[in-house]
Amino acid sequence: MANNEELFKQIIAHAKEYGFIFPSSEIYDGLSAVYDYGQNGVELKNNIKQYWWKAMVQYHENIVGLDSAIFMHPTIWKASGHVDAFNDPLIDNKDSKKRYRADVLIEDHIQKIEDKIDKEIEKAKKRFNNFDETLYRQTNTRVVQYQAQVDDIRTRFAELMNNNDLAGLKALIEELGIVCPISGTRNWTDVRQFNLMFATKLGSVSDGADTIYLRPETAQGIFVNFLNIYKTGRMKLPFGIAQIGKAFRNEIVARQFIFRMREFEQMEMQFFVKPGEELKWFEYWKQTRLQWHKDLGIPAENYRFHDHEKLAHYANAATDIEFKFPFGFKELEGIHSRTNFDLSQHEKYSGKKLRYFDPEVNENYVPYVIETSIGVDRMFLAVFSHAFTEETLEDGSTRTVLRLPAKLAPYKVAVLPLVKKDGLPEIGQEVFDMLKKDFMVQYEDKDAIGRRYRRQDAIGTPFCVTIDNQTKEDNTVTVRERDTMAQYRLPIADLTVELMKKLR
Ligand code: ATP
Repeated sequence: MANNEELFKQIIAHAKEYGFIFPSSEIYDGLSAVYDYGQNGVELKNNIKQYWWKAMVQYHENIVGLDSAIFMHPTIWKASGHVDAFNDPLIDNKDSKKRYRADVLIEDHIQKIEDKIDKEIEKAKKRFNNFDETLYRQTNTRVVQYQAQVDDIRTRFAELMNNNDLAGLKALIEELGIVCPISGTRNWTDVRQFNLMFATKLGSVSDGADTIYLRPETAQGIFVNFLNIYKTGRMKLPFGIAQIGKAFRNEIVARQFIFRMREFEQMEMQFFVKPGEELKWFEYWKQTRLQWHKDLGIPAENYRFHDHEKLAHYANAATDIEFKFPFGFKELEGIHSRTNFDLSQHEKYSGKKLRYFDPEVNENYVPYVIETSIGVDRMFLAVFSHAFTEETLEDGSTRTVLRLPAKLAPYKVAVLPLVKKDGLPEIGQEVFDMLKKDFMVQYEDKDAIGRRYRRQDAIGTPFCVTIDNQTKEDNTVTVRERDTMAQYRLPIADLTVELMKKLR
């Protein structure tokens, strides 16, 4: 069994080998933390976006969509606070010359202690019948000590981040004995702030042209369109605006494949509510978003909430949905109660009133906002890494199978004539033409059938339909299921309906 690091490497290699993800500009040796989605990747990515859009826009009568431009007026980023405060604390190791995020070094250190706790618990689970985890956490000396360490570091870390205490962060890194993974030394520079926005110039002449930014989040496009949508859509509170689009961040450290990219895609929804009702809606969206993840059939133990210790000055509640990636639990989605900060700031900087008229109280006010924000690429990595499975079969052979949730799989069905003769390819083409109207279908007639099944397993196709000689006699085909490898015959005429039932 591969360890987690090995497993992650295998996942990255698989993503490339099977046309899901390629390094950007590969023939020029790539571009750091930028990736391209290949023929299968783009399908999976589109399906993720569609699954989100349906859940947010189609299933909510009070949520509408938006597609705002990436370039926006530069004052927007002043108003939102990004020009002054969209910073990460960076630190360099003087020996390896490698750059790190100071906060990530500390979080990784905490994660290591939490891993030790998990190991103790795993061991105990194997040792004792009727294992009571809560009691064990309270009574086992080692676990209690580790937990106390975690709590202490977390409290101090949150305080340092809240106070923007860069010297304090460095002192904590030194005190915890955190070493550079490359050089193994503790020879650190001071911690400095680094702004993550990419700047460029608008206009064909750079002289005197305005500096504009590639948006670091899609949310501001929603806020500056609040009034347009509220008025033209005749919206009533509470209502939401959803958007999917590219975002850009000049990340200091971007080493975890598509987990942290410099160009990525976000799916964000801002939900506008009456002031005073925001915490109720925050709770609603926390549960609703977690349910969206669970509905994919990925077991619940892979998700957890992580409430923020450090609240942004404008937020009055914030949580992350964390996912168990191959490198540990990390943020997948953020849910934030942003008060009326953004709209108020845009009122101030634009001089335009961004208010809702509430007929119930006959009053104008700036609505409060709950935001849900998830990275498409991070979601891709979550489902892809969870789906990646290597199995040993009864006959001792192995197979690699992507157990993707069927609704996200790039192709739903593969049509495979058993041999490339005897009229089977012709029937295969007819079946393909019939199914393609309802599903993404692949047609393949090269190689032995076993190898073709393995290729479909490797890209996560839930169903293979095989045409054989019996098909010519009775118009039935063999359906083979990806996960169980079970096979059964169905009449061609029933295929569409049966597959639809199964895919639902
Ligand atoms: P992190 O702490 O990991 O840097 P963040 O708290 O800055 O993330 P948000 O600003 O809340 O992230 O962005 C919302 C979502 O966008 C994240 O939950 C994540 O899924 C995604 N995201 C943010 N930065 C990146 C990135 N560099 N690459 C890929 N996805 C990202």
